[in-house]
Amino acid sequence: MKGQDPFAVIVGCSDSRVPPEILFDHGIGDLFVIRTAGNILDGIGMGSVEYAVLHLGVRLVVVLGHSSCGAVAAALTGEKPGGHQDSVIEALEETVSSVRGAADDEHDAASRKNVLVTVERLRNDEPSIRNLVEKEGLEIIGAYYDIGTGRVELPIGKGESS
Ligand SMILES: [Zn+2]
Repeated sequence: MKGQDPFAVIVGCSDSRVPPEILFDHGIGDLFVIRTAGNILDGIGMGSVEYAVLHLGVRLVVVLGHSSCGAVAAALTGEKPGGHQDSVIEALEETVSSVRGAADDEHDAASRKNVLVTVERLRNDEPSIRNLVEKEGLEIIGAYYDIGTGRVELPIGKGESS
């Protein structure tokens, strides 16, 4: 295969139960995938998305959260295990505290909110991604995979997260 021409960027969780190519039934060359614990984007992750939309011409970015996410569960405990895992917990702290006491299922609410926060961050990322959203029809949407049912909800967050 000469070069690559993926049609979507997936920002997903490293969780072994959530492999984007298998969930979305796609093969080699179809998806440009960034996976981190808790589907969090740091500078390198953002740079990876930028590369795909600027240089590969991808016009769809899907931020994929999921049920039973260990990173979100760890952040909800408020404890820090030490080492680099603390970076994961710290990145989720604000999201987690915003749902605390405000939802029956805090894990589910935090996981969904985490997706929507990342969608908004990407949409407003200056200058290049925001520009592509406004002028080139780049779509950035959130999705949620339920490990129990095997279903992907897409898009999530039209209006308010549930
Ligand atoms: Zn996860």
